[in-house]
This record gives sequence, C-alpha cells and structure tokens, in this order.
Amino acid sequence: MSKRDFYEVLGVAKNASDEEIKKAYRKMAMKYHPDRNPGDKASEEKFKEAKEAYEMLSDAQKRAAYDRFGHAGVDPNAAAGGFGAGGAGFNGGFAEAFGDIFGDIFGGAARGGGRAGNAYRGADLRYNMEITLEQAVNGFTTDIRVPSWDPCETCGGTGAKPGTKPKTCATCNGSGAVRMSQGFFSIQQTCPTCHGSGKVIAEPCASCHGEGRIKRNKVLEVAIPAGIDEGQRIRLSGKGEPGMNGGPPGDLYVEIRIKPHEVFQRDGDDLHCEVPVSFATAALGGEVEFATLRGNVSITLPEGTQSGKTFRLRGKGIKGVRSHNPGDLYCHVRVETPVRLTEKQKKLLREFDEALNEGGTKHSPQTKSFMDKMKGFFTAD
Ligand SMILES: [Zn+2]
Ligand SMILES: [Zn+2]
Repeated sequence: MSKRDFYEVLGVAKNASDEEIKKAYRKMAMKYHPDRNPGDKASEEKFKEAKEAYEMLSDAQKRAAYDRFGHAGVDPNAAAGGFGAGGAGFNGGFAEAFGDIFGDIFGGAARGGGRAGNAYRGADLRYNMEITLEQAVNGFTTDIRVPSWDPCETCGGTGAKPGTKPKTCATCNGSGAVRMSQGFFSIQQTCPTCHGSGKVIAEPCASCHGEGRIKRNKVLEVAIPAGIDEGQRIRLSGKGEPGMNGGPPGDLYVEIRIKPHEVFQRDGDDLHCEVPVSFATAALGGEVEFATLRGNVSITLPEGTQSGKTFRLRGKGIKGVRSHNPGDLYCHVRVETPVRLTEKQKKLLREFDEALNEGGTKHSPQTKSFMDKMKGFFTAD
C-alpha cells in the first residue's frame, strides 16, 4: 500500500513552519478524532494518518530525513535499525544501517559521494531503561552509564602503530567506494576493505586495536518526563557514538519499559484497577475510599452493586507527555466472598439465605436470568 505525502496529508506547503504544521494537525485532530466520531472507520484512518504525518514533520531530524528520502527515510518498518529508530542497539547503529539501506540506492551519495576521508555520522545508540509506573506518572531524573569514546593517546587517533601511517586502500584507491555491476545497473558501494575510510592500517596500534579511539563509560543525567509510556524514547542529541573523520556524533535513545504494577494497569492515558468490596457494602451501597498514584479517591456504590460493575473517575488517570488532559481511572468492582467464617457467622448467613429464598428469585436477578436461559436449552428440540 502506498503512503500519501505527509505534507499533503496535513495540507501544508513543503516549507511550512513548525507552527503551521502544528496548527494544521490540531485542526485535523479536532475534526477526525475517534472520540468525536465514534465507530467511524474513515475518520479514524484520517486521524491516524494525520497523527503519523505530524509525528514525523514535528521532529526536525525525522522531517529532514523525510524531505531527503521520503517514506523510506522515516518508516521504522522499512528496515530494522532504520533512520532515527536507534533500533540497532549498541552493536553498530546508524552508520551501518544507513549504509545498508541508502548506500546501495543512492550510490554513496548519502555519505557525500564516496570521497576519501568521508565524514561519517556516528552510530545511534539505544539504552533500555525499566522504570516503575509511579516513576512514569510523576517523572524523575536519573543517572545512566553509557559508553563513550576518547581519541587514543598512543596513536593520536590514527589507529596506526606509532611510527607507522595508515596506507591508501588498494581496493578502492582511496576513494572509499567501489562500483559493482548488478544486471543493467552499476551500483556504487562502500569499499569492503576499508569500510569507506579510503585507508587501511597495516600495523594497528596496540592500545586501540586500530580503532583510533578507546571506549570508556561515562555517567549521563537523563530527565524522564512525567507521563512517559511504554516504548517511548527520549532522544539525547549528539550523545551517541562519535562521528568519523569529523562527522557529527549519533544520538542516544533512552527507550522506556514500564514494570507491571501490582494494582494499576495502564492503557494509554487511562488506568484500570480492581476494587474489592465486601458483600455487605455491595448489597447495601456505600462509599469506598482508596489511594491511587495521584492521591486518594472515593467511589460511591449504589445499593445492589454487582461484581464487575465499572466506575469511571474522569481525570484520575495519567497525563501523557503530549496530552493536554489526564486520562481516566476505571475502577472494576469485585465483590469479595467472605472467608474463614465463625460458626456464628455461618449460622447468620444460613438464616439470611433462607430469608432471601422466601422472596423467590427477586433478590437474585442474575441467577434468575441464568436459570431462565438454562430452561431454554432443555426444552428446545
Ligand atoms: Zn591507538
Ligand atoms: Zn577501500
């Protein structure tokens, strides 16, 4: 399925300002939001399309990639570890993925034409962080240890053993790229011998094994914004691997995982929880107060509340990072069967049950409905 142009989706010009893009998206969201068009599939699709377009065009880096390479530049499904996805993790990231995806198609143009000493952008890195739901709701600041690279002091960053020099690569004659024929096409590829640098190191430096840099760890402070959700990423611009030959560094993406909570389950900005209430409270009605992640709340149970009944507390959910208002808290009532009864309690309960039975099934609407349906099964022929 082909995708529509993101600018076309939002109805803005290619050179639209961030403000214009935001405005256009807001207008579309107001019109097509599923909450405003319940059950309308066409509106939902339009909303999704606009949302995706906005997410891409509101991020300067993604927009630049899109402007240059179209959907292939920003679609995380286009290839594993694609542009801006940081999906390649700590072992090889952006530079490699970028070369794999675009190097073939654009013949090294993406790297500046395959000249010797090309500037490479450093690889993007991903840091997986597991946090609690409380931390996600309130936001917090923490330190993380991430790899960092310093130029090797032994060889001065050249990667060659002191006293020797890197030599021009014989495979590509120092151009960093080679041409290969594939059917009718001649495709320029990154030189497999020197990996595009145009140089080979005959005698590698012992300290850095020819890398020219030494990996160390450093501590970085990361602010996790309140409302962050599972799978969302925080981009630390320029904190990825350093670039090569003067290229810019990659970015570091902190990807969030949220540990399961004992009481609350999250669904976007909404929260769900199960509230146990006593059999008597459910029958007689009453107020149940309990603590949430954002203070105490209470729900008022009407007389005769059944197990499974849901109460929605507006605005008591989570305020997402990009949301204007917090979501809702859904409280699912679970009537608790009393256990470990004393003889006296059992006797009272039997008497109570007898009193109920005197009223036939009028006290037990669910039992009545269940029995009526069962009768239907046996008489049907
Ligand atoms: Zn070295
Ligand atoms: Zn080469």
